[in-house]
Amino acid sequence: MNQPGNPGEVIRTVQNQLECDLYLGGYWLPIGKLKPAVKMPVRPPAAPAGSPARAVSQERIMSDAEPRKEKQKRLDDLVRRMGSCCRCSLAQTRLHLVPGEGNPCARIVFVGEAPGASEDEQGRPFVGRAGQLLTNIIEAMGLRRQEVYICNILKCRPPENRDPQANEIAACIEYLYEQLRIIEPEMIVALGAHAAKTLLNSTAAIGELRGRVHAYYPEPLSKPIKLVATYHPAYLLRNYSPDNRRRVWHDMQMVLKELGLPVPRGKQE
Ligand code: SF4
Repeated sequence: MNQPGNPGEVIRTVQNQLECDLYLGGYWLPIGKLKPAVKMPVRPPAAPAGSPARAVSQERIMSDAEPRKEKQKRLDDLVRRMGSCCRCSLAQTRLHLVPGEGNPCARIVFVGEAPGASEDEQGRPFVGRAGQLLTNIIEAMGLRRQEVYICNILKCRPPENRDPQANEIAACIEYLYEQLRIIEPEMIVALGAHAAKTLLNSTAAIGELRGRVHAYYPEPLSKPIKLVATYHPAYLLRNYSPDNRRRVWHDMQMVLKELGLPVPRGKQE
């Protein structure tokens, strides 16, 4: 076991922190190097309103299955129902409900496990340090956070950020199912083991579940939704390594390719 103060461990911790900070600051690190070589892509300038380019840009992120306003209304109604939820004991300890946010017609829904302290304070998903990393990953994909939908399996924070319990997941999961039925995404990105195992009804480790495209069935006879599992951003922060970063980026490239979206230039590793 590494002891605090061990010089090798201290250097490694500082290096991990620096690499994560560079990553969070908008740099995409080349494998094995500390110095940033490629600036993460900033969203390309928006095409003028009414132009064909703007229409294509909107089309690639919007589903036309149902008008956006109608879906937003159904999501708002669902949030109102969640607001008075006492199905599990987390209702007694939460500061705020964290239902999820984003585009009600999103093609991609990112699903994490549960809100943390920052999320509980703000009532918004993925707004802490891990959330900033998720935002950077989404932008590295050439997308914007508001183009996708982001939520968690649990809508209330487990005390001390402990793992979600089976009874809490069982009590809360219907809200996620309802969100997915309303949004009708083409792709779900399960962030971390809890989200992946719950949605895929699997006991396999996240390392086994990531790296391929799964089929998720919202209802027994319904059309499947593609699902890609990857490491949770918080795990990536705690266990930063070029290999883990490369694995997550590989999974995100798979998402883009499955949706027929371009992989941003300079990122096709
Ligand atoms: S975690 Fe889910 S089931 Fe539990 S109180 Fe919150 S909304 Fe209800």
